[in-house]
Amino acid sequence: MKRTIYNEDHEAFRASCKAFLDKNATPNLEEHLENKAIPREFWLEAGKQGFLGLEIPEEYGGSAAGDYRFNAVWAEELSKVNAALSSCVGIHADIVAPYLVDLATEEQKKRWLPGFCAGEIITAIGMTEPGGGSDLAAIKTTAVRDPSTSSGQAGDWVINGSKTFITNGYSADLIVTAVRTSPEKGSRGITLFGIEASDEGFSRGRKLDKVGQTESDTAEIFFENIRLGDDRIIGEVDKGFISMMERLPQERLGAAVSNIAHAKQILEETIQYAKDRQAFGQPIGKFQHNKFLMAELVTKIEVAEAYVDKGVDAHSRGELTAIDAAKAKWWSAEIQNDVLDHCVQLYGGYGFMNEYRVARAWRDARVTKIWAGSNEIMKELIGRDLGF
Ligand SMILES: Cc1cc2nc3c(=O)[nH]c(=O)nc-3n(C[C@H](O)[C@H](O)[C@H](O)COP(=O)(O)OP(=O)(O)OC[C@H]3O[C@@H](n4cnc5c(N)ncnc54)[C@H](O)[C@@H]3O)c2cc1C
Repeated sequence: MKRTIYNEDHEAFRASCKAFLDKNATPNLEEHLENKAIPREFWLEAGKQGFLGLEIPEEYGGSAAGDYRFNAVWAEELSKVNAALSSCVGIHADIVAPYLVDLATEEQKKRWLPGFCAGEIITAIGMTEPGGGSDLAAIKTTAVRDPSTSSGQAGDWVINGSKTFITNGYSADLIVTAVRTSPEKGSRGITLFGIEASDEGFSRGRKLDKVGQTESDTAEIFFENIRLGDDRIIGEVDKGFISMMERLPQERLGAAVSNIAHAKQILEETIQYAKDRQAFGQPIGKFQHNKFLMAELVTKIEVAEAYVDKGVDAHSRGELTAIDAAKAKWWSAEIQNDVLDHCVQLYGGYGFMNEYRVARAWRDARVTKIWAGSNEIMKELIGRDLGF
């Protein structure tokens, strides 16, 4: 089905994303895999060419595209190349950006945004803790005011705790971190802090050994008596939970866009494989079972894509609801995993070999049902909205 949400400007932007990735990412994917990281040079080049500041105002070095469809195009092109690349860049450019643009003070914007756009400051978001990720209101990392030493009128905040599974955690220079400031207030006692990797008391664990998306540097990070002033609070004290809830729909929509683009790309490659690969004297795609299977998979992708496109369109007009974002996230993750599992089967034994993209894509996809709010949490939100 012809997609209708993108116009000539978006397609021209798509062409430049593709050209950039063909040159700066595709030839280096094996290296990313070996190093379990996206190299700094990629970030710097992406910054230089304006791909990291789509949501950032021009005065801070961004391009202020002012239209979420450009973010979606960039996410699609990244996902077609590699799921982990898309996750790392997405966390920075699509997930962290709104926190800094909407909530940061003028001073913070000047401190962080030019480097953010240039790829000199890589960012991450720290919500999940070893004790739990779904129950965000239960986070245990604390910031306590110490009135004895002050960096201004308000006493220094002393931060202790840890976060885990943090995408870009090993390379991040700035982590937007959810911290408990009022123990007695539950979800109303959480504050966001901008913690810098150079802050005394900040340390990182090893790069985590993941089943898929090996190219992304996912890490545990630790805070031991980090002392920060009010100037590092992003937004307002005790309003962090609301700030996160307001921005999670964009994170979930971005995940949905990536899920579908990733599966669609691998399915296209699989269809070509089914034309080329012969068995019993004919292409394997000619067997009725396989032909019908691919007909089903193409249909599933296009139907899901149409829903996600509607979400992108709604979001670019400021009308996306949290519930629709939750629907797009869980459904696209299911479709992606379903489609890729069948793609592996169509490749036969080669589908199980790490050197084949289809095998890696299948492993890479598994996490999409778990992160950005697990699929169970998405259904919980949708179910609550039904009045249960
Ligand atoms: C590769 C990777 C990268 C990640 N990147 C980041 C990142 O950059 N920043 C960040 O903050 N986090 C990140 N995460 C964390 C991710 O968001 C969490 O793993 C996720 O939210 C689930 O939390 P959990 O792992 O603690 O599982 P738990 O919350 O312990 O849940 C365990 C299981 O119980 C289910 N469950 C929990 N509560 C309910 C309920 N109420 N109803 C039904 N089922 C329920 C869950 O769905 C899940 O199946 C990442 C995770 C991975 C694996």
